[in-house]
Amino acid sequence: MKLLFERSRKGRQCCILPPCDVETAAFDESLLRKAPLHLPEISEVDLGRHYTELAKQTHGVNDGFYPLGSCTMKYNPRIDEEAAALPGFTGIHPLQEPESVQGAMEVLYETEQLLKEITGMDAMTFQPAAGAHGEYTGLLLIRSYHLHNGNKERNKIIVPDSAHGTNPASASMAGFEVISVKSDENGGVDLDALRAAVGPDTAGLMLTNPNTVGLFDPNILKITEIVHQAGGLCYYDGANLNAVMGHVRPGDLGFDCVHLNLHKTFAAPHGGGGPGSGPVGCKEFLTQFMPAPLVKKEEDHFEFFVPENSMGRVKSFYGNFLVVVKALTYIRTLGKEGIPEASAGAVLNANYLMKKLSGVYDMAFDTLCMHEFVMTLQRQAHEKGVTAMDVAKRLLDFGIHPPTMYFPLIVHEALMVEPTETESPETLDEAAGIFLKIMEEADTDPESLHQAPHSCPIGRPDEVTAARKPVLRYQF
Ligand SMILES: *Cc1c(COP(=O)(O)O)cnc(C)c1O
Repeated sequence: MKLLFERSRKGRQCCILPPCDVETAAFDESLLRKAPLHLPEISEVDLGRHYTELAKQTHGVNDGFYPLGSCTMKYNPRIDEEAAALPGFTGIHPLQEPESVQGAMEVLYETEQLLKEITGMDAMTFQPAAGAHGEYTGLLLIRSYHLHNGNKERNKIIVPDSAHGTNPASASMAGFEVISVKSDENGGVDLDALRAAVGPDTAGLMLTNPNTVGLFDPNILKITEIVHQAGGLCYYDGANLNAVMGHVRPGDLGFDCVHLNLHKTFAAPHGGGGPGSGPVGCKEFLTQFMPAPLVKKEEDHFEFFVPENSMGRVKSFYGNFLVVVKALTYIRTLGKEGIPEASAGAVLNANYLMKKLSGVYDMAFDTLCMHEFVMTLQRQAHEKGVTAMDVAKRLLDFGIHPPTMYFPLIVHEALMVEPTETESPETLDEAAGIFLKIMEEADTDPESLHQAPHSCPIGRPDEVTAARKPVLRYQF
């Protein structure tokens, strides 16, 4: 399709400015551009068509099934968007006096209370802008704690190899050395490897649970105990909370801090570059180090305060506030019954789809899963030359967004499928039929599979060149 710059015609425009009703003031010559600014000049109808064409080339939850593992691409109820669009929320400014934004402060306070209840933590900050940013913030809490206690030598973070890829990256950014521990044959943390890894230099452990292969670690209480006995703290990567919310709380499992992805579990759309929100919760003994400001309630009044040994800010103001409004609306709409029902539905849907595909597709772990499951195409790659990439690309022809591919790294030819609770049995049946049909094609017409997709504007881009030599701007 043509770019806006290519559609541009000199002098064409789509706005009629009203006559200026104030005195004009001239800019100083030194402040003026030397060359004209290249802005596309275009009529309103052409502008509208351009964006409609772009929208048609994308795939979203409104277009079809989107089982992108680890991303929880569920349907977000419209009411959450409506709440976040209320002028009382969109028309305020972060520098306003607290007196004039008591309602917004109540939103932060209320959401904190609810998420404390859901996670079993004692306080929550909404500053982090995303999951990885939350991890970083949580790790700074752990760091502050050890430094405060004079334990400078506790500088190692243990990360199981089934953790999300952001975990070791965040630990490293927060100044820790990362110690990887391997999984056992059932996909959980190998306890002997963990025991061997902890010591007087252990700052803590980061556990993704359910982990990236969709399994709840059955030894989770043992894991937190081993780390605590060694003097470390336990961090819970709660981005997969959609599998367990309302059923089990990280705070009851021995975890000292946790981050959530509001843009996965709590009804903010995920993808497209944001905005997201990765609130961090912690136990009482860590609250003194939390980012500032936090909100507290004094009788019927809300106030900002700075914790005693606060690490300062990790983001300007109070984080992505409107995402918090969506989360509050979502939690309040679902209520105490709806929250566990949502996660139960997510687990049920994942197991339903897994059952429908197993036998034809090989599962990486032959057991019940949580909210997602991982298949391996290793056998098919070997026998038929059909890879996870081929299956993923062919799904596009049927209007299904591919699962997450080649992740987690501990599974070869991986496809990681997360259907979410918002899909109907009919959609799951239809998707299962398509997955199975693709495997039939692998026998009858593998060549065509290697060429897929046949119906998309772009088929198989050269990903290496795209990553190494990206063309990010239009050359005039
Ligand atoms: C998505 C995810 C993250 C990272 O979240 P971002 O918002 O993308 O930074 C971390 N951990 C797990 C388990 C995730 O699924």
